[in-house]
Amino acid sequence: MSGEQAAQDSGTGDGEALGVWDVVVIGAGPAGASAAHAAALTGRSVLLLEKAELPRYKTCGGGIIGPSRDSLPPGFELPLRDRVHAVTFSLNGRLTRTKRSRQMLFGLINRPEFDAGLVDAAREAGATVRTGATVVRVEQHGPGVPDRRTVAVVVSTGGPDGKREETVYARAVVGADGSASRIGAHVGVKLDQVDLGLESEIPVPASVAEDWAGRVLIDWGPLPGSYGWVFPKGDSLTVGVISARGDGSATKRYLDDFVARLGLAGFEPSVSSGHLTRCRSDDSPLSRGRVLVCGDAAGLLEPWTREGISYALRSGRLAGEWAVRIAEAHDAVDARRQALNYAFAVKAGLGVEMGVGRRMLALFEKRPGVLHAVLTTFPPAWRAFAGITRGKSSLAELVRTHPIARRALEAADRP
Ligand SMILES: Cc1cc2nc3c(=O)[nH]c(=O)nc-3n(C[C@H](O)[C@H](O)[C@H](O)COP(=O)(O)OP(=O)(O)OC[C@H]3O[C@@H](n4cnc5c(N)ncnc54)[C@H](O)[C@@H]3O)c2cc1C
Repeated sequence: MSGEQAAQDSGTGDGEALGVWDVVVIGAGPAGASAAHAAALTGRSVLLLEKAELPRYKTCGGGIIGPSRDSLPPGFELPLRDRVHAVTFSLNGRLTRTKRSRQMLFGLINRPEFDAGLVDAAREAGATVRTGATVVRVEQHGPGVPDRRTVAVVVSTGGPDGKREETVYARAVVGADGSASRIGAHVGVKLDQVDLGLESEIPVPASVAEDWAGRVLIDWGPLPGSYGWVFPKGDSLTVGVISARGDGSATKRYLDDFVARLGLAGFEPSVSSGHLTRCRSDDSPLSRGRVLVCGDAAGLLEPWTREGISYALRSGRLAGEWAVRIAEAHDAVDARRQALNYAFAVKAGLGVEMGVGRRMLALFEKRPGVLHAVLTTFPPAWRAFAGITRGKSSLAELVRTHPIARRALEAADRP
């Protein structure tokens, strides 16, 4: 049975005549694809809506650390462009030092093919995918909503004048529409950190590519909390910087200086782009009524490194699983209980990690030089970094089990 037919068959009440999907997921990045995959695996009717045509570009380093790898759909083959065995650290271009590891630290992918592969996995699990479909708004009350168990999702599908709209209906909705999320605004997501990432994809000749193969560079930047990276992807390098939003020209200057300093200014980028990253505040909602948010849309992101793929995959899977339970809920009280369970699961895992990440960022903002020195000269710190990137440990676990790490963070907490 197709997803469209399943949607016609599911549900009861007025919504049934309209063809109500059990779960509609908005946005087909890692969070949305993961949510759609998890929900579709339960046999429910799932519609995944994406405004772009796939594969689509996304400004991102494409670093896949252990927790990302561990959260992929079973059997998913990572389209790795390189395997990282060495990290060169520098402090705003100085004190350069390379640390190596026999075991792979993390992998590097290009987002268009990675994201398209995840969407294929969701489709294979039974989700219906519609691209070129921009969600304009969701409605949970009012004349456009047939009953209290149904959410109306208003979709713009272009048309000759760019104004054609249609409405699809769902028992539960997952908002996974990224860092400029409309669904996040509907839910009332609150943020306590917004950063601007600028990136260039730089095709390079074989001699340059060889020099970078298997090695990334991380540069602790000149702006508070900023850093830059070079991630090799075979015949091109992804070069980027990130820092607090607010002084875009200073962030751009950092990227230009960084590229020039690396001797890469003579190569023409194939893509230059920017994107915001957002971290939720501790008390930010993760749901409203029958609508959940996950990934960047929920502000779920590691505050220090701004690593977000594992957060998107992990929260997406949870959102897909809990959306199915919300879809089954017969009244608002039950739907709310399931939504609170989702929030609890997110906060107990990713929320704890974000708390430690926030404190790490505060320490890094105050003393980037100390962090650089510790990572490059104190072997246990490098081993901890390697363990975290491989997914053997996490920042939260490190702080829980290592008294020195705990004391360093406590010192940073003091004004
Ligand atoms: C410069 C930079 C570098 C980064 N590097 C890394 C890294 O190396 N490793 C890492 O783990 N993380 C990295 N991140 C973070 C990572 O990119 C994000 O956290 C991750 O993409 C979040 O996934 P998502 O699915 O929540 O959102 P997205 O990947 O942004 O996907 C959202 C999707 O929703 C679609 N959409 C948006 N609005 C609508 C709408 N109204 N209707 C329908 N569809 C819609 C979009 O087209 C998009 O496909 C980086 C971020 C930046 C900015």
